Amino acid sequence: MNISELLARNARKFPEKIAIIDGDAVLSYRQVDETVNRLASSLQRLGLKRGDKVVLYMPNTKEFVYAYFAVLRLGAIAVPVNARLTAEEVRYIVEHSEAKAVIAHDWIYEALAPLAGDFDLLWIKTGEAKDGWRSLAQLIHDGSANSIACPLQEDDEATILYTSGTTGRPKGVLFTYRNILSVAVMMALETKMDKDSRLLHMMPLSHSAPLHLFFIGGMYVGATHILSPSFSPEALFQLVEQHRITHFFGAPVAYLLAAKHPLLHQHDLSSVQYWTYGGAPLSAEEVRLVAKQFRTDRLMCLYGLTEAGPNGTYLSPEEHAHKAGSVGKFAALNCEVKIVDEQGREVPAGEIGEIVLAGEGTMKRYYKDEEKTGETLKNGWLYTGDLARRDEDGYIWIVDRKKDMIISGGVNVYPKEVEDVLRTHPDIIDVAVVGVPHPEWGETVKAFIVGAKPIDSLADRCKRFLSGKLADYKIPRLYEQIDELPRNATGKILKQVLRGMGDEAAARS
Ligand code: ATP
Repeated sequence: MNISELLARNARKFPEKIAIIDGDAVLSYRQVDETVNRLASSLQRLGLKRGDKVVLYMPNTKEFVYAYFAVLRLGAIAVPVNARLTAEEVRYIVEHSEAKAVIAHDWIYEALAPLAGDFDLLWIKTGEAKDGWRSLAQLIHDGSANSIACPLQEDDEATILYTSGTTGRPKGVLFTYRNILSVAVMMALETKMDKDSRLLHMMPLSHSAPLHLFFIGGMYVGATHILSPSFSPEALFQLVEQHRITHFFGAPVAYLLAAKHPLLHQHDLSSVQYWTYGGAPLSAEEVRLVAKQFRTDRLMCLYGLTEAGPNGTYLSPEEHAHKAGSVGKFAALNCEVKIVDEQGREVPAGEIGEIVLAGEGTMKRYYKDEEKTGETLKNGWLYTGDLARRDEDGYIWIVDRKKDMIISGGVNVYPKEVEDVLRTHPDIIDVAVVGVPHPEWGETVKAFIVGAKPIDSLADRCKRFLSGKLADYKIPRLYEQIDELPRNATGKILKQVLRGMGDEAAARS
């Protein structure tokens, strides 16, 4: 089924039901579906056709929804990118995806000015036509409301999502209709979405969990979608209260910011049935802090990665009572999980191995990268690069990413373990631990610390704090206090930037 048929089907089933709320705009399923038809017919007239790639450079707005579905309605391939990417980052994606069109939001289209002259393709923006950009509103106005439905097979390609590039160049992850629909169904079922659900979208719809799980999951059942172009704790509290939100998905960093916010307890957030988080680790202490501050027992953890659609494992709200910090025991629906050694054999409980996943949501391949595809998809399993172990009850605990593991003097140090302990220090707000080159040991452990105020004798204090809590070889030798950790557009810590910052200091030590 063409994913945009979900929208058309809802428009037939309950035309006047509210589909989208974006600021003051309140739009029914009928209105959204009709607008999508109009836009699709204009895009078709401009020559866009099945298989063409269209880059969407837009925050979470109603125009994103129109553009995404209109592209799919033509059988073209949507390439949504984070609206915070720079022109150079978008250039790479436009070039690599061989895009035929770029659709940008009026608020940010000027950021792409350095590109517009370099590529001969369709440049479209919301708002008025300007500087060689066509107007999306005009295209909608000029289009025909007659429905367009490009017949598609389940293995046809729907979307390319570029990974956030935390570990290197972003990779184009290609998904079929079947991939996306299978993970959307999983999310709708696992978090009990139905047509009365009200979903708040604050995480960028350019990423797999917000888009495939949350947005398409909600489309499946005809939920109401409340869109917010950005995240702030104040906006979260206000929108949840105003719209009686039932489902929210956020990155761990969003939950931590909200949990520490002074206005949290001035709002009624009791309508939320699922506070879902994932995409990065949240330690057991942090999970407990969030649950306490949010006064909720409805936290749900998702573990996965873009390449898995991002379907992996989950920890249900009920399981949080005794396994906070774990990513769950079972694979999500339509998925399987194993922890394996270098030879691909399942490791016994307690031993560290790599998580491998197999499921309907797993990407078709990396776009134009056969070598990486071959390294990642082996014998039907997706190698995640995440190291983990199962406890005696079968629950999975992420140890770290393989690429972040430090080998110092021949022994393995997992930065996440060190970070989790340092984070419990009362003066430390945020921390990242990396390996930096060392002439004798290969690498040495370095901690970057963010504190509420300057911390005197930082190294001595931290070492004293860690002593007895961690084995000596895991205790960082080098410390540096910085104002803020470098993060990418989705809030993930950019460890390669920190490693670069660490090189110099290590050379001096
Ligand atoms: P790139 O592949 O370009 O470096 P990225 O890995 O940051 O980008 P994502 O697919 O967004 O792109 O990240 C997936 C990774 O995030 C997983 O492999 C895992 O390391 C981490 N992750 C996701 N969910 C969880 C979770 N619930 N707990 C711990 N870590 C998680």
